[in-house]
Amino acid sequence: MSLGKQPEAFGGGSLPSSACEIAKLVRNGELKAEEVTEASLANISSRDSEINGFNTVLVEQAMEESRNLDNLIAKGGYGGRLAGVPIAIKDNICMRGIPTTCSSHILQNWKPPYEASVITQLKQEGAIIVGKTNMDEFAMGSSTETSFFGSTKNPWDTKRVPGGSSGGSAAAVAAGMVPLALGSDTGGSIRQPASLCGVVGIKPTYGLVSRYGLVAFASSLDQIGPFAASVEDAELLLGVLAFHDAKDSTSLPGTMYSLEKSPSETSALKVGIIKNFLPNADESCRNAVINAGEFLSGLGAKVEETEIPELDYGIAAYYIIAPAEASSNLARFDGVRYGLRADGKDVEEMNVTTRTEGFGREVKRRIMLGTYALSAGYYDAYYLKAQKIRTLVQEAFNKAYESYDVLLSPTSPSVAFPLGAKVADPLSMYLSDLYTIPTNLAGHPAISIPYGTGEDNMPVGLQILGPALSESVLIQVAKLLEKR
Ligand code: GLN
Repeated sequence: MSLGKQPEAFGGGSLPSSACEIAKLVRNGELKAEEVTEASLANISSRDSEINGFNTVLVEQAMEESRNLDNLIAKGGYGGRLAGVPIAIKDNICMRGIPTTCSSHILQNWKPPYEASVITQLKQEGAIIVGKTNMDEFAMGSSTETSFFGSTKNPWDTKRVPGGSSGGSAAAVAAGMVPLALGSDTGGSIRQPASLCGVVGIKPTYGLVSRYGLVAFASSLDQIGPFAASVEDAELLLGVLAFHDAKDSTSLPGTMYSLEKSPSETSALKVGIIKNFLPNADESCRNAVINAGEFLSGLGAKVEETEIPELDYGIAAYYIIAPAEASSNLARFDGVRYGLRADGKDVEEMNVTTRTEGFGREVKRRIMLGTYALSAGYYDAYYLKAQKIRTLVQEAFNKAYESYDVLLSPTSPSVAFPLGAKVADPLSMYLSDLYTIPTNLAGHPAISIPYGTGEDNMPVGLQILGPALSESVLIQVAKLLEKR
């Protein structure tokens, strides 16, 4: 397995690159948050004109917050679990008074009057928010090419996509502009860009992280989660994000989870490789899974291949359920309540012109697909059937987890593809999420870690999947594999 070139680490040599290390030093007063923030902003200003990972950079606000934090610490105050760590936020997570565009023309100038609960929590823990990141419009896509603000480029090769929809967040970490970032994952939008950019990404259990203030795409599938350059840093951020939030009715009670759950002995670990996912993957992606299995088996784990054929239907069900929910969620963008208004002679014409001008092609396609699937006469044939498949996928996973602690698969069938390669063919774009979508349908967690390189030395991602609230086990296994 070739290691290839490495993503550029945050810090550029003089500063620690790890978020855990930065937070510890800043908390102890051995490193100034101001210095770390300056370094992050300098990296953004030198790298981002090429990468286009950021929609907004919060220069003054970030500098002011870091100085306030340094003053607090100098007076003996507690800096927080993420003291002085620069973080980038996907542009579908609301910050009060800061543009939250979802990379859409319709929200181009919209400034939320409130902030997401995860933002409040990050600030309380001392994180320094340096900007909002580029994404596929309303998180619909797998390449960040549906953004109204132009596509983000993959830092490993700027002629390739960074994946999507959280491509800006993944690229910002991979290019060393920030050590941490937030993304959202509805069908793979954290794990797939993490894989294509050679960083770590976690899609948490549904309900573990508050969705309050996340602009809804498909509410029964959406979860916010971390990007980082190492498993340990992703774990640190996940720990901060996992709390009960009364503002989100699907937030799990705090008593249900613990990231510190005692992990199992490696020798007792049972690992299943999802066999039916392998034939469609490129050789490098397939080999990563097989190598990881062999490595874990060498440590004493019981590793075997297993067929879970129901998972192959996940993608068909997802492309009914997600557009159906999106068509309902996006009805609120009507030219009155948020963002853009294009005038018309009456209200109806104003609604139509606003939505025609405001939404891009992919978003329109999803709204039409979803409206069709929900309409009388087609509901039973499409939506109801997709929901039945969703139940089958959940049951198939639950059965697999009676025999295995974790499952392994490629995160994506290929390494990052060239910009423009799949734009004209939505079906081939949708297939990028073949291996990530079933997890969302089940509400389960999964992590993607970089595991070697493939074609042209581009990074390959390995996906580790587990049952609800198994994050601590996934992280334990990811750390073993990362060491390799
Ligand atoms: N690529 C998938 C889609 O286009 C998943 C997106 C996501 O997870 N937000 O719907």
